[in-house]
Amino acid sequence: GQPVLAVVGRPNVGKSTLVNRLLGRRQAVVKDTPGVTRDRVSYDAVWNGRSFTIVDTGGWDPDAEGVYASVTSQAEMAMSAADAILLVVDANVGSSATDEAAAKVLRRSKRPVLVVANKVDDQRAEAEVAELWSLGLGQPYPVSALHGRGSGDLLDEVLRAF
Ligand code: GDP
Ligand code: MG
Repeated sequence: GQPVLAVVGRPNVGKSTLVNRLLGRRQAVVKDTPGVTRDRVSYDAVWNGRSFTIVDTGGWDPDAEGVYASVTSQAEMAMSAADAILLVVDANVGSSATDEAAAKVLRRSKRPVLVVANKVDDQRAEAEVAELWSLGLGQPYPVSALHGRGSGDLLDEVLRAF
């Protein structure tokens, strides 16, 4: 089948917005309320004539388990099911203990992992991006899922990673 890209990260970092951006259409559910994407959902995507599947791993039940356990299990799932993984971080917040735990899991992955610094809506926000090298997963890719900034470059990297 076609390659699978899994999108993981804490609630509210913009995973579903990014998935919509990468799909080029609004389809994944986006809400201001953290945890609104209840289920893991797959979508068919195409970039430069290559087809792949994007999995939005937003499912999170704040009553059932803490965010830390949830994000870590997302990362474990992504490692077993995906050909490449995006770890999405809110660049305006920086990396939290949860992001560091997810990164620690993902550093064991044999699959390529790209760190996405989301919510880099303007040049000013670029200043926070370099800090995300500390996750130990290589170069962070700045994007604004909301406005589309950097999403084409990210998709080029994703295709190279498969
Ligand atoms: P998820 O929980 O990780 O799936 O996050 P969502 O995609 O539901 O987004 C959470 C909130 O962040 C929403 O209010 C989005 O509009 C907002 N958001 C997502 N991407 C960006 C971005 O690039 N810039 C800004 N400023 N806000 C964003
Ligand atoms: Mg979501």
